Amino acid sequence: MRVEDFPEDIRPFIIPGHKGKLIYRCLDCNRKFGIETLLYTCPECGQILLIYDEDFEHLKQIPGKTWRRIFDYRRMLNKPALKGIYRYHEFIGPVLPLETILYLGEGHTPVIEANSFLQDKVGVRFFFKNDGQNPSASFKDRGMASAFSYINFLIQGKHVENVLAVCASTGDTSAAAALYASFLQPLVKSAVLLPHKKVTPQQLSQPLGSGAAVFEIPGVFDDCMKVVESLSERYNVALLNSKNAWRILGQESYSYEIAQEFEYDMDQKTVILPVGNAGNISAVISGFLKFYDAGIIDKLPRIIGVQSKHADPVYRYYLEPDAKKRKFVPVRVKSSVAQAAMIGNPVSMPRVIHLVDLYNKISEKENLFFVEVSEQSIMDWELIANRNGHIACTQGGESLAGLVEASKRGLIGKDDVAILDSTAHAIKFSGFADTYFNGSFPAEFNIIPDLELINTPVLIKPGDLQKFPAPGKPLEGDDFNIFVKRVSDNIAEYLDLRQETACKKKG
Ligand SMILES: *Cc1c(COP(=O)(O)O)cnc(C)c1O
Ligand SMILES: [Zn+2]
Repeated sequence: MRVEDFPEDIRPFIIPGHKGKLIYRCLDCNRKFGIETLLYTCPECGQILLIYDEDFEHLKQIPGKTWRRIFDYRRMLNKPALKGIYRYHEFIGPVLPLETILYLGEGHTPVIEANSFLQDKVGVRFFFKNDGQNPSASFKDRGMASAFSYINFLIQGKHVENVLAVCASTGDTSAAAALYASFLQPLVKSAVLLPHKKVTPQQLSQPLGSGAAVFEIPGVFDDCMKVVESLSERYNVALLNSKNAWRILGQESYSYEIAQEFEYDMDQKTVILPVGNAGNISAVISGFLKFYDAGIIDKLPRIIGVQSKHADPVYRYYLEPDAKKRKFVPVRVKSSVAQAAMIGNPVSMPRVIHLVDLYNKISEKENLFFVEVSEQSIMDWELIANRNGHIACTQGGESLAGLVEASKRGLIGKDDVAILDSTAHAIKFSGFADTYFNGSFPAEFNIIPDLELINTPVLIKPGDLQKFPAPGKPLEGDDFNIFVKRVSDNIAEYLDLRQETACKKKG
């Protein structure tokens, strides 16, 4: 739809006009810094940053009802820059001119209600939001669209040139960073650091395919992160990990989409997501807070962060009920099928501590919880979801296992509706399902396959047949007819099919 065709009262708002006054703010010393340079930590005290719009009050002058209409109408607009996460431009990156926005098809991922079988089994009404349907098949694209649009903005404004984008990754960050960087080549190049043998082959293939320099490092993600931090402190590179606050801004779109998808009614809603480096939960909290502050939603949903027992530092932190006594202790991670969240020392922990406190305060009740789940339950629930029409990855399985656990703990009412983050596409992590089906999990995972969930291919190759077709060597004549007959009979026998008689067919 063209701008001139929108209702008159909406027309002035359809193309974002608000420029905002974005600043980085240190979460420790509260100092502010301009956004003309890319910062990751406070130049004064070294603490992590978040980006704020000092002109946010301006957005609050527009009534929530008007905002809701603006976003609903923008759905119909045919402008690539505003088709993805920047439908919420004023709330994500108001300083970015539309010409600098990078859109590769991210955002607006489907929200799919579970079928009745699955809802009965879990005992709660719930939906998956399929963030695996982003361009690089994980939610990380939301943050990268934001971070690379900002880099593009700096390049266009001649603030930077010859950017080398670097990141450490449990797999998906590097896939997304390399994809977005490759779109901006030759102005931007990328280098990614991965823990050796701790990302899936599919994830490894992604930055390779995008032309990034790919480095494998012994150890786990937390070790790679330290190397990348050292690189970004001493060399002129752009850090694309979620330490980069622009990533958080982009990932807030997840919350805005949920609000819009449910007609901005967050009453009795619970949003559940896996927690690794804790960038995503920071973004989700921050997103709902902004929409609430602007009067776009009038209730804050409950949020539940899920961690595996094999990588649970955030869960452990909140085990202590007295906030004053809480002390963050990094954990040594063990092998996890929720490998993308297998992080013992989350970079965004200071953000989580700040935002969880704020969220509960503004909700005027405890509205944010963390639960812990076993590797077994993550794997089992992923496979059950997959068998019921969902493309949930292992981390999506973790969300579902988290819902079951939260419901057991009484954190979810019977009339509540849960929205589960399936953070990546199942095929990125299909190797874990194969391992489950083959019964070949190493002992450290503590996973014993449930026979009911195992599925393996059956080779149909009748032993008494001499000849089989092969590429470039088709069978012909009787050989081929015999082959087709024998193989189809074998399959029918295997499936216990009954032969239809000629007269039955006619009837
Ligand atoms: C990165 C990632 C996570 C963890 O998100 P954090 O922001 O690190 O907490 C979970 N699932 C998938 C598929 C991921 O790629
Ligand atoms: Zn500071």
